[in-house]
Amino acid sequence: MYFTVLTIFPEMFDPFWNYGIIRRAIDQQKIITSAVNIRDYAGGRHQVTDDRPYGGGSGMVMKPEPLAAAIRDATGQQTGAKTVLLTPQGRMFNQAMARELASLGGLILVCGRYEGVDERICHDLIDYEISIGDFVLTGGELAAMVVIDAVARQIPDVLGGEDAAEKDSFSDGLLEHAHYTRPENFEGHKVPRVLLSGHHREIEKWRMESSVMRTLLKRPDLLQNIELNTEQREILAKWRRAIENILDSQVSEI
Ligand code: SAM
Repeated sequence: MYFTVLTIFPEMFDPFWNYGIIRRAIDQQKIITSAVNIRDYAGGRHQVTDDRPYGGGSGMVMKPEPLAAAIRDATGQQTGAKTVLLTPQGRMFNQAMARELASLGGLILVCGRYEGVDERICHDLIDYEISIGDFVLTGGELAAMVVIDAVARQIPDVLGGEDAAEKDSFSDGLLEHAHYTRPENFEGHKVPRVLLSGHHREIEKWRMESSVMRTLLKRPDLLQNIELNTEQREILAKWRRAIENILDSQVSEI
């Protein structure tokens, strides 16, 4: 899959391309990446990419001509690629979107700066407007890295473990179970016994319970949006009974 980033700070991506799973995916040609300087598409001696806003007010706006030229050049080189504008006003990025984008042949990610880009860029040249959260960054570069990182790990064989991405949090609507490694006892906190048992069926049951209960405690909103299977409903029912028993034992005191 191709990732082309359009930015006025392409150097920001040098360290990003150079480490960990992204580095390995590039080396194995699972992904082909480039960061293109929007300034290269700006005319004039000073290659200006921003200008004052019509209507007045503070801040600068990214000019449409260099952006449009950069986007057209990138789409010309990557037929079938979709264009993404990183913006706090876009659709909120999530795991489902990462999976959806990973099925495409390529992404061209447009990074805004200053007050953002001239609105007319969005009319014909942008397929998706994506936000990485309800906060405002100084530029789209970090947001583009977040999107590339999350999308790349959904591409088959980019992760080492065969099914690692499928078990990640959000993949089945739940948070992932807790993880433990050595030592068995860390500052008095022991690894759950079942994980040492070698009993795979019991370990899978424990992991499912951990996943359901962590989701209930940390992100109960997620449980409202998925259809739980029988095993998951039974886990919640078991804990409801346990909580009801505790409450019943309290009521007699009143
Ligand atoms: N004035 C804009 C607004 O209020 O909507 C914010 C502009 S922001 C300072 C500059 C650039 O950072 C944006 O054009 C966008 O590319 C990027 N950016 C900021 N926050 C973002 C977010 N939450 N998600 C994605 N991109 C973001």
